[in-house]
Amino acid sequence: AESWHGVPQAPPDSIFKLTAAYKEDTFPQKINLGVGAYRDDEDKPWVLPVVKKVTEILLNDPGLDHEYLPITGLPSFTSAAAKLILGADSPAITGDRVASVQTISGTGANHLGALFLSRFYGFGEGGRKVWLSNPTWVNHFAIFNNVSIEPITYPYYDPDTIGLAFQPFLNTLRTAAPRCVFLLHACAHNPTGVDPTREQWGQIADVILEKGHYAFFDCAYQGFASGDLEGDAWAVREFVKRGVPLLVCQSFAKNAGLYGERVGALHVVAPTKEAAQRIKSQLSVLQRSEISNPPAHGARLVSLILNDQTLFDEWKRDIRTMAGRIIEMRKELFRLLSEELKTPGNWEHIVNQIGMFSFTGINSEASQALTEKAHVYLTTNGRISMAGLNTHNIRYFAESLDKAVR
Ligand code: PLP
Repeated sequence: AESWHGVPQAPPDSIFKLTAAYKEDTFPQKINLGVGAYRDDEDKPWVLPVVKKVTEILLNDPGLDHEYLPITGLPSFTSAAAKLILGADSPAITGDRVASVQTISGTGANHLGALFLSRFYGFGEGGRKVWLSNPTWVNHFAIFNNVSIEPITYPYYDPDTIGLAFQPFLNTLRTAAPRCVFLLHACAHNPTGVDPTREQWGQIADVILEKGHYAFFDCAYQGFASGDLEGDAWAVREFVKRGVPLLVCQSFAKNAGLYGERVGALHVVAPTKEAAQRIKSQLSVLQRSEISNPPAHGARLVSLILNDQTLFDEWKRDIRTMAGRIIEMRKELFRLLSEELKTPGNWEHIVNQIGMFSFTGINSEASQALTEKAHVYLTTNGRISMAGLNTHNIRYFAESLDKAVR
């Protein structure tokens, strides 16, 4: 007998659906601007030269085995990863106050962080809730729902200015019940590409401290955003300096091009060294029940890169190659729209936004027209992955966008 007749068919993941439709399309000039993965100027996935090099080093290591890693991960990876995001001179690092655990990339870090909060966070009168930016990476909703923390949203994006809804955001921080959890994108906000300025981050930190809120940082694009690992970590480091209670979810998918290797970490910054030890012991218990031990290969690759100055410098060059290409595409798209085609509207946000994605500000009809008439695939919220643009297709894209909004 059919035992699972009560299981309804789930809808396909929308990005997956977009990619499938793109693959089926036989139009020669088709463009995929949906997927959040870096492509080179030939629209090909890019294996970072430094990753090729460390893969070779690992392969030739006669001592390499396939034993389990410790439950909390490869220690040389987690400690270097903590320094990368927090800064080697961070008071949290020098005070030994960070509980770091290797996770299944950024998604796993978000999950473990959410699970940890669901077990141990002292939610205030606001209830078991997490504040997410509107909009945010859609997976945040499912990740928190899975651990029985209800996601609710704070204003973030202002469609009128195609920028940050700063005052409404700040007002929500102020009027929320004390001790709420706020999820913040450390840099290169997904999907909007809109980040607070440093001055605005300072004001956000002030209110979070005043209200006793908790900052749940998601950092999926360090270095990938601006090309500068330090600059992209600024907000997290500033919050640590000011003593904001926080954790950071870290991913090496984008900045090391290690999407499939699932290399990431969760760093919980504790008030004392002793608290960090207790927190790490509980994270270890949670990790044990979920995955037992994290995967070794990707963590070994990143550990080699982070712990050798020459390889680290090479990685920084590779990061600048990726970020630089994306920034060039932003400039060229802006130039084509505003100068050459004189497309109606203001397009400055294309160059002001940061990271993999750009919110073009076009409505869902224009997005749909782009897909149906021009074979350009993008999500209906008007988000484009800048990595899908290159010197060969950018003019076709700009001309198609121009037609869609006229
Ligand atoms: N968080 C944000 C905001 C993201 O955009 C992504 C990837 O798209 C992730 C987390 C997690 O990615 P991964 O699990 O591949 O590291």
